[in-house]
Amino acid sequence: MKKVLIIGSGIAGLSCAISCAEKGIEVTLVSPFPSERSQSVLAAGGINAVTDFPEYKDSIESHIEDTLKGGCHIAGKKAVKGLCENANDVIKWLEKLGTIFTLETDGRVSKRAFGGQSHKRTCYCGASTGKQIVTALVMEARRYEGLGLIKRRLWMDFYSALIKDGICCGAVFYNEATGSPEIITADSVVFATGGQNALFGKTTGSTQCDGYAAGKLFTQGVELKNLEFIQYHPTTIETSQKMMLVSEAVRGEGGRLYYEDNGRYVYFMEERFGERGNLMPRDIVARCMEETKKEIYLDITFLGKEKILKRLPEVYELCKKYRGIDITKQSIPVTPSVHFFMGGIAVKNNHETNIKNLYAIGECASIYHGANRLGGNSLLAAIHGGKVAASSIEKSEQTELDNDFSSELKEAEEKLSTMRKSKSLYPVKYVRDMLAETMHENLGIVRSAQELEKGIDDVSFYLSIADKLNFDKSEFAYLGYSLSGILTLAKATLICAKNRKESRGAHYRSDYPETKDDWTASTIISYDDGKYHTYLDTEGKYES
Ligand SMILES: Cc1cc2nc3c(=O)[nH]c(=O)nc-3n(C[C@H](O)[C@H](O)[C@H](O)COP(=O)(O)OP(=O)(O)OC[C@H]3O[C@@H](n4cnc5c(N)ncnc54)[C@H](O)[C@@H]3O)c2cc1C
Repeated sequence: MKKVLIIGSGIAGLSCAISCAEKGIEVTLVSPFPSERSQSVLAAGGINAVTDFPEYKDSIESHIEDTLKGGCHIAGKKAVKGLCENANDVIKWLEKLGTIFTLETDGRVSKRAFGGQSHKRTCYCGASTGKQIVTALVMEARRYEGLGLIKRRLWMDFYSALIKDGICCGAVFYNEATGSPEIITADSVVFATGGQNALFGKTTGSTQCDGYAAGKLFTQGVELKNLEFIQYHPTTIETSQKMMLVSEAVRGEGGRLYYEDNGRYVYFMEERFGERGNLMPRDIVARCMEETKKEIYLDITFLGKEKILKRLPEVYELCKKYRGIDITKQSIPVTPSVHFFMGGIAVKNNHETNIKNLYAIGECASIYHGANRLGGNSLLAAIHGGKVAASSIEKSEQTELDNDFSSELKEAEEKLSTMRKSKSLYPVKYVRDMLAETMHENLGIVRSAQELEKGIDDVSFYLSIADKLNFDKSEFAYLGYSLSGILTLAKATLICAKNRKESRGAHYRSDYPETKDDWTASTIISYDDGKYHTYLDTEGKYES
């Protein structure tokens, strides 16, 4: 029986695991934490789809057009077409598995407006779309677990991929329960490890998503793509642990952004872009906010208490709990924060990387969003991508496995034991904090060559000391060994941003403010013995 190893059990990993099990493929689904604690459960706003209901006067063509336009025309047309064409089936599949979408009184799936979309297209489950979807998918995964087709392994951190002769056949993990490395082999390996939040410290996302897997794979020969495109969500509020998202649904319900100027309210987005100004794509809104250099507020009070409590209960609770603000009476002070990574592991339309039998799906992969993602498209991409990868794996040839991985295991054992011999934990956390500061300072909403060079120099220095930092406790092993992978990814990200000498989508250069036609392609970056190489994918190696 064909075997697949899936690393990461958020919505993308679950979707792929279930889709593989549906095809009779044996799945091992690995993650350090249960799915119920993945970042996917944070998704509140919704999932985009043109559904069967003509009342919405929407069309798949319009969904495709909005997605390509939002992504500033560097996302692959074929991949986006597949994404949008399959969205309705994704919603039906989720409903079949028990996801309860919010419905209109006539039984239609309700829709809300999200930024950059020409129609109300975002289906949602009250205020907890991600949680509802994860719950339904976990139930289905458990059913397949009962049938022996899915095996879930927790407390397992990715260490490295097993790649022989350009073919991936498994991975090495650090088993937190035993404190030892462990090997899992498979015919295909799928990465579903989420975004790269740790590069920036406090973001709207989960600290589980640290980018280590992408960074490590990069050093093992996997190409990465479009790392310079990082989405800042315009409306977040700061709390002691993270940046909390004030959902785009607030602006979807008519919320207005403004700042105060000598007692006058300036609705700067509406003044600049007209009636739908508040719902411009996220990169534009975030940049306009930054340009004002003022404290920005979001007002939804005019909707009235009854509608606010019915349509935006989570935002009401969030603002009350963390900032003591009653949004039925007061405006919300908001600030943009790092939220989503359009870049990641480069994949072809079937989600395979440049290494045979190695796949990437969900937020760790880069394929559907180009230079900027539309809200509601990433849950769709995570589920659709999982299904596409499963279909490709079903058709792929079964690998003859070479079972001698003793040298890989020995390398991991030696690395972990060297780390345990030393005493100091402090420096690694310190370097992680310094990295976040460097990235915020030099890779913000607006960048310049000077800042990016400074960022590269700083990160190069952290990299030069990374492997010399050590630990005295085995439970911190992951924090320790992941550092150099995270730093390598950070450096690659800064290099991609420095090399793109134009402004496009979420990448804005103060020294190159124009969008240029000859840059209408994705950035690909590869690694060879400590050297980083970038090129533009004008030949369509990944996009078609
Ligand atoms: C606050 C918030 C709200 C959002 N709202 C929406 C929305 O309304 N609509 C929308 O479309 N999108 C939304 N998004 C984006 C969307 O939630 C994510 O893009 C999507 O859930 C990513 O799913 P995933 O399965 O790829 O990753 P995740 O859900 O992040 O799962 C990653 C998995 O990988 C595991 N992992 C990570 N590193 C390792 C490692 N080294 N070894 C082993 N396992 C590892 C993790 O433990 C986890 O199981 C939102 C994001 C945030 C942060």
